[in-house]
Amino acid sequence: MSETIFSKILSGAIPCHKVYEDDRVFAFLDINPLSTGHTLLIPKEAAKTLDALSEESAAALGRVLPRICRAVIAVTGVREYNVLENNGAGAHQAVAHVHFHIIPKPSSSEGLGVGWPARSLDTQAGAKLAARLREQFE
Ligand code: AMP
Repeated sequence: MSETIFSKILSGAIPCHKVYEDDRVFAFLDINPLSTGHTLLIPKEAAKTLDALSEESAAALGRVLPRICRAVIAVTGVREYNVLENNGAGAHQAVAHVHFHIIPKPSSSEGLGVGWPARSLDTQAGAKLAARLREQFE
């Protein structure tokens, strides 16, 4: 995979405000925070999107993510937050290295704004779709 700004952070080539590190994951403050405490958690593995990530890195992210959330809550005093992970440019991914945003939501005007253009799920179409998805796990 080609080098990204996050692989340069991991190698120490460019600086960051480090929050946490272990052998598989790294967390640091977002350089353009949506709110105070906006933190990024990344795997050291250089996968572009979540579907490309190894189970080992995924497990390490899952283990650490709640700990980062607790640290952000403890330090900011803000108990409400969003966790966001974008995959692909069309889905707002700007850096091609998997990253989870932990974004405190201190007020309606700060933090993540979410568009949620929900529709209702047709029962028959839903049954067919879920069956096709289950087949992927066989
Ligand atoms: P995304 O749109 O999900 O790819 O988000 C990329 C995030 O990386 C943005 O929130 C940027 O502010 C953040 N970012 C980009 N460069 C840096 C950097 N050098 N240090 C910290 N955060 C960065």
